Amino acid sequence: MGQKVALVTGGSRGIGAACVRRLADEGCRVAVNYYRSRERAEALAAQVGGWAVQGDVADPAQVQKMVDNVLDKFCQLDILVCNAGIAQQKLFGDLTDADWRRIFAVNVDGVFHTIRAALPHFIHRKTGRIITVASMWGQVGGSCEAAYSASKAAVIGLTKALAKELGPSGITVNCVSPGVIDTEMNGNLDREALRALAEETPLGRIGRPEDVAAAVGFLCADAAGFITGQVLAPNGGLVI
Ligand code: NAP
Repeated sequence: MGQKVALVTGGSRGIGAACVRRLADEGCRVAVNYYRSRERAEALAAQVGGWAVQGDVADPAQVQKMVDNVLDKFCQLDILVCNAGIAQQKLFGDLTDADWRRIFAVNVDGVFHTIRAALPHFIHRKTGRIITVASMWGQVGGSCEAAYSASKAAVIGLTKALAKELGPSGITVNCVSPGVIDTEMNGNLDREALRALAEETPLGRIGRPEDVAAAVGFLCADAAGFITGQVLAPNGGLVI
């Protein structure tokens, strides 16, 4: 892959941290965005020879500053992984305006802010790889996850539209849509629930962050240069 530069939002933990490691293994210099987990982001960045950078993706000014700082530090950006996200399980009738707004602010506006901030650089260089992270619930809808499902469906729509718009500028835009992955986001699921989900999954287990990072790594590789607008789903066959 050469000395490319990648920015992974929400790179401090879980799937994002696995993407950071994967891209570093592929030879990238990686900027590790974090929101609250400063120590973890800094430790990971030190481990992979990257750089930790703070920013709430829901805040456009913070995102612009973060991308400007990455460009100041590395002088280029080749790969953007829009991974930062939050989830919430609630009955639809219990969702408050604030619940709905925050899910969309992070999961959808966050992707919009990050891509918008990096795009002039990508367009100027006529190259770039953008990976968004959705969810199987954005494809098929999850009970008690209406806001989350709607936000991830929006991410898929944004990915497809942008792939058409940015293809002529040499930029690919693809989406990774994971199934159930063993991260803190699923910390509310007990052992029994995880076992049941594994049984329901054709490949017989729940996913690991590295399973998602492998899909991200593939979409960022030179070999994936003719792939754009696609949804790649590391989900063990749970949703086909
Ligand atoms: P996680 O373990 O809860 O980690 C979430 C990451 O997002 C953290 O690094 C966190 O940063 C960051 N983040 C949250 N709010 C942020 C904000 N406002 N600004 C910047 N960063 C923010 O979750 P995960 O399981 O790794 O999920 C990563 C992505 O995969 C999410 O988009 C999620 O929706 C998606 N996904 C997950 C699963 C799953 O089963 N786990 C399935 C499908 C899709 P700090 O810790 O620094 O605050």
